[in-house]
Amino acid sequence: MCPRHWRMVPRNFQNLVYRYYQPGQCELSPMPSGKWHAAADLAIGAVALKESRISEETYERIKAKAREALASGSCGNE
Ligand SMILES: [Zn+2]
Repeated sequence: MCPRHWRMVPRNFQNLVYRYYQPGQCELSPMPSGKWHAAADLAIGAVALKESRISEETYERIKAKAREALASGSCGNE
């Protein structure tokens, strides 16, 4: 995500992305966790909603799915 869009991400979602980021994951070593993907989905969804690229309903679905992933298991990998 470019800096302009990153600045549109709500602070609590930015914090989640940082919390579940693991050094090396951009090189897939380790693979990004399910929880990081959930946090990334929230960040992308929030920007997409702000830019009217998705509906409020789609955004609610993204949030419900992410909430489930963030609440599950200890490592978050599927
Ligand atoms: Zn961008």
